[in-house]
Amino acid sequence: MKPLSSEDISQRLASIQESLTSSARLVAVSKFHPASYVEMAYEAGQRIFGESRVQELVDKWERLHQSYPDIVWHFIGPLQTNKVKYIAPFISMIESVTSERLLAEICRQAQRVGRTIPILLEVHVAEEETKSGFTPDEIRALVTRIHDEPELYRGVALQGLMAMASHVEDEAKISEEFASVRRLFEELRASGLLLSPELFTELSMGMSGDYPLALREGATLIRIGSAIFGDRA
Ligand SMILES: *Cc1c(COP(=O)(O)O)cnc(C)c1O
Repeated sequence: MKPLSSEDISQRLASIQESLTSSARLVAVSKFHPASYVEMAYEAGQRIFGESRVQELVDKWERLHQSYPDIVWHFIGPLQTNKVKYIAPFISMIESVTSERLLAEICRQAQRVGRTIPILLEVHVAEEETKSGFTPDEIRALVTRIHDEPELYRGVALQGLMAMASHVEDEAKISEEFASVRRLFEELRASGLLLSPELFTELSMGMSGDYPLALREGATLIRIGSAIFGDRA
C-alpha cells in the first residue's frame, strides 16, 4: 500500500468537511495509522482524532502533545476498566462507555486526576451480537440512576450518545437504526432527568460507509477512518 501524501489527506478531509451539516463535526479516526498521518491531518486543520486502543493512543499522545497541544483525542473503542487510568489524564472524550463498571472506573480515575471527563453512552442498536453497548432501556435506567444519585457519578459529564449501525447494505435499515438513536437522544433531552441538559448535545454516529445517512438523521459527530487515511493494515 502506497503511503498517503499530505495532499491526499487534506483533499479527503476537505471533501468530507464540505458534506458536513452545520451542526456536525468530524472525528478523524487515526487508529492503526502512524502519528505522521495525524500530523498531516492536523496541518490540514483537523483537530479531533479518534483512537480505539489504549496503548496506541498513549503512544501517539506522548509523541504529539507537546507540538500539538490542541489536538482533541476521543476514545471510541472497547475500553478495559484496568486501562482507564492511562488515558484519564488527557482524554477529551470517552465515546464508548458500554457498562456501569466502566463508568464507575472512569469516575474514579477522573477524580484521582482532578478532571471532569466528557463521556457518551454507547447504544446497542445494530443487529450484530458482537457490537457492544447498552440497550435503550438500560440507558434510560442508567440516566435515571445518575439523576437520583449524582454523587456516585462525579468526575464525568454526560454529553450524549454514540452508536454504530449494522454492517449491512440496506440503507433503509441503517437509517432506521440511526433514527432510533436520535429518538432516544431527544427523549432523554426532554425527560427532565439530565443533570446538565445543556451539555447533552452530542450524537456520535456514522463511519466511512454510512456517514451521509447519519448526518441526515442528525449526527453531531461522525467518526471517519478509512475514507481519510485509507485501509488499515
Ligand atoms: C474504526 C472505527 C470507526 C471508523 O471506521 P471507518 O469505517 O474506517 O470509517 C468509527 N467508529 C468506531 C467505533 C471505530 O472503531
